Amino acid sequence: MPRYPGPVVRTGAPHLVVVTGTAPDPDLRPGDRLVRVPVGGDPAALLERVLPTLVTGTRLLVTGPETAVQAVRAAALRGGALDEEIVLVPTDAGDAVRDRTVHCGHCHHRSVVHADIGDAVVCPGCGLVLHLAGHHSRRLAAFLGAPTTQQAP
Ligand SMILES: [Zn+2]
Repeated sequence: MPRYPGPVVRTGAPHLVVVTGTAPDPDLRPGDRLVRVPVGGDPAALLERVLPTLVTGTRLLVTGPETAVQAVRAAALRGGALDEEIVLVPTDAGDAVRDRTVHCGHCHHRSVVHADIGDAVVCPGCGLVLHLAGHHSRRLAAFLGAPTTQQAP
């Protein structure tokens, strides 16, 4: 399960603040830079442009729905950022039933479902019923969906 810190403790370092979807802007400090990833936007393309322009020591603060902040983190890691430089502030992590990105363990298709851990969801890639596991991959930015004999929702 992804874990998120409670109240965000920020260091004195400047932050690249990435706001995804319709999340409200967090408080900015001097030296911070704000960028927005619109709903359906491509965080990888944005970070490819922005990461090389950052001052060494800049950290990332990412806020928005979990599916989006996890996608930004995966793109940042691919872009060379370190996990300890990234702070995620998902706006919906308190909701057990929420949008979750699921990676099908059978056909490797990735989709977003509105579900809780342990629910059965149908993979739009192969049509199998998947058990939405608590295991979350940082690299894939997705929960694992394992084929199951559970009843489809
Ligand atoms: Zn599948």
